[in-house]
Amino acid sequence: MDDYFVPQVMPFVGREEIANLTQVINNKWLTEGPFSKDFIAKIKNYTGAPYAVLANNGTLGLFLSLLASNIGPGDEVIVPDLTFIASATSVMFCGAKPVFVDVEADTWNIDTTLIEQAITERTKAIMPVHLYGQSADMGPVLELARRYNLKIIEDAAQGYGVFYKGTHTGVLGDVGVISFFADKTITSGEGAVILTHDQDVFNRLSYLRNQGRLNSGTFIHPFLGMNFRLTDLQAAIGVAQIEKFPMIVNKRLENYQRYQMQLEGIPGLKFLAIRGFSNLVPFRFNLIVDDLAGLITHLENNRIQTRGVFFPLHRQPCLQQVCMEGQEFPNADYASAHGLSLPVYNDLTIEQIDYVCSTIKDFVT
Ligand SMILES: *Cc1c(COP(=O)(O)O)cnc(C)c1O
Repeated sequence: MDDYFVPQVMPFVGREEIANLTQVINNKWLTEGPFSKDFIAKIKNYTGAPYAVLANNGTLGLFLSLLASNIGPGDEVIVPDLTFIASATSVMFCGAKPVFVDVEADTWNIDTTLIEQAITERTKAIMPVHLYGQSADMGPVLELARRYNLKIIEDAAQGYGVFYKGTHTGVLGDVGVISFFADKTITSGEGAVILTHDQDVFNRLSYLRNQGRLNSGTFIHPFLGMNFRLTDLQAAIGVAQIEKFPMIVNKRLENYQRYQMQLEGIPGLKFLAIRGFSNLVPFRFNLIVDDLAGLITHLENNRIQTRGVFFPLHRQPCLQQVCMEGQEFPNADYASAHGLSLPVYNDLTIEQIDYVCSTIKDFVT
């Protein structure tokens, strides 16, 4: 919609991305090539991951990670109830079963105190999700994984730049996926990276992503594989974005703090808590409000594009076959019914933020 004064998302792309794209066109090498190599090298350097492969998007990156972790029929994977649908569908498409666990009321990340009771003989992995720019509490997840011999597959789709106690998200568990979809912190349009420190997993990822062979150009395929590659056009955008990341995160933090300052202490409005073990790379500015429907209508009427938070997985029509009767997820339900996301993207102006805040104040006070 063009007539929003404040749209919800806006990728921060321009001159630098165009320059890199021009280079790809001039090179006449459109599939994975020099920019893909550079993209991977830069990601490994920044995240500290010993091994990384690119994937065509975060959803297929999760699917690929699960396949490379040998998750399949009969297996269960523990997934938080409040996340994007891909955290669960990637498990389903492996033939395994996602088992849902409620989230914390004040961070919307997985409630680690509820994981142990969800573990069964069939549990093979835990998939913590790092939502809205802060890390899930990985200490207890790592401890449980050790104790029950489970894999950890991190959905760090929103986690670029987010560190848990100094370690980058996606590198804490066995495998981790960062998405570069257009609304993520940095983007390549579509795209993702899979991180691991397990050489066997890296080998399986390398074969699986490229038709069951290591190098294109051969028609002998030692293993079954698929095509999970992206293009050098996407990697060229990604490389430009990584170089701009320090500026991106600073601006997002400024925007986040401007909301916080103006909306602090208003009755009926709550913010998410930020835990001490994580830094914050704002993905959105989230509010918890009593009258969500009323506020959304008010904001939309004032040309501010709104976004709720995720719909709980246990309520998803497409996941009813794996849901257990009578299980309750009060925090995911509450977040979904009362959570609102406000934009923090780089091109957002001070005037736009102030306009959003005063429009909210009009409504609640
Ligand atoms: C965006 C997102 C994904 C999926 O990534 P795509 O690149 O859009 O396929 C998965 N999980 C979470 C939490 C996300 O935010």
